[in-house]
Amino acid sequence: MNTTRSLQDLIKPFRDWYKNRHSYAETWKENHSQQVIGMMCTYVPEEILYAAGMLPVRILGGHEPQDVTEAHIFGMFCPFSRDALAQGLKGKYSYVDSIVLSHSCLHFRQTFTSWKMHLPLKWSYYLPMPNQVQSPYAKQEFQSEVKKFKEFIEKEIGKTITAEALKQGTSLMDKNRSLLRKIYELRKKENPPITGADAVYMAVTSQFISKEDHNTALEALLEKANEFTPSRETGVRLMTIGSENDDVQFFEMVESLPATIVCDEQCAGSRYFWNPTIDAGDPIQTIANRYVDRPPCPTKDYPERKRFPHILNLAKEYGVQGVILMQEKFCDPHEADNPALKRFLEENGIPTLTLEFDSTNPLGPLKIRVEAFLETLSAEELFS
Ligand code: SF4
Repeated sequence: MNTTRSLQDLIKPFRDWYKNRHSYAETWKENHSQQVIGMMCTYVPEEILYAAGMLPVRILGGHEPQDVTEAHIFGMFCPFSRDALAQGLKGKYSYVDSIVLSHSCLHFRQTFTSWKMHLPLKWSYYLPMPNQVQSPYAKQEFQSEVKKFKEFIEKEIGKTITAEALKQGTSLMDKNRSLLRKIYELRKKENPPITGADAVYMAVTSQFISKEDHNTALEALLEKANEFTPSRETGVRLMTIGSENDDVQFFEMVESLPATIVCDEQCAGSRYFWNPTIDAGDPIQTIANRYVDRPPCPTKDYPERKRFPHILNLAKEYGVQGVILMQEKFCDPHEADNPALKRFLEENGIPTLTLEFDSTNPLGPLKIRVEAFLETLSAEELFS
């Protein structure tokens, strides 16, 4: 039986969604007659939007050269914030009715502000999210902000979002998180059937495809999971760490070498879906707690760096032999963390390679750097 082909068939919807995300959202809007909401940052509590019948769509870059943002956003802001704004200015997200930003970094806040100023919207909402998630007041504070957000949406749709609807929205999101965790479990195998590129397609599309459709495709894939046999050698087991790094061509290039990306810690990957909600009684508090407790973005990981032990645990669980630190150019939050993270990983016996990323990346030179890294790892293995 040709199970490899059937795995590719089951991954195809995610690849297609990745490429055709805008036509998917336009069709969804036509079929549902509901608002599509542009979500800026993964700290937006999508549960509220699903409870209101809306489709949250994460605003992402297009990984293509652009020359439309110079008048709006500093050239030394991260390429992701500029690329995302460029997509808006070029009309790629013309179906987006409204936008929400949860407080994250200064760079993306500029994207939000420029978007509000220059693009037609029904409404925009800035959702304060405490940066100091380690504060004993963070959960209470965020609960009150999520409640205000819910009340704002209720005014927009002209009806109450019931506790039952909130629970349904939450359980839909949790189901997606749990299915993606099961996909990631497959990557722990000695010979993972799912490549790092496949995982990016699945994790990133969950941020802009309706969770109902996404869950159906994930379930179909997981149903056959035990039949999958990898069609390639695993090679060196790598982990990627970064921010909004969904340049699938980079992942495919790495996996054209004798290596497999078996795990990640990125907001375009595991950081988005890793933890489910835990029932706190009040549905709004349940939702708020989940975002405060999730694996943190570096903007929110102080005074104690809790992200580092989480990354080390992942590296151990997935049998990682080397880490690629994907440093988005000019991203201050990750730049502030990466030297300490590199030292921390190397002190714990995990070699690292730091690569700087732009919205478009020179795959040839990057390939040479990755090849050299793999050779170093193989030599270390030989002499250890
Ligand atoms: S956290 Fe970094 S990559 Fe993400 S929007 Fe902010 S500056 Fe850009």
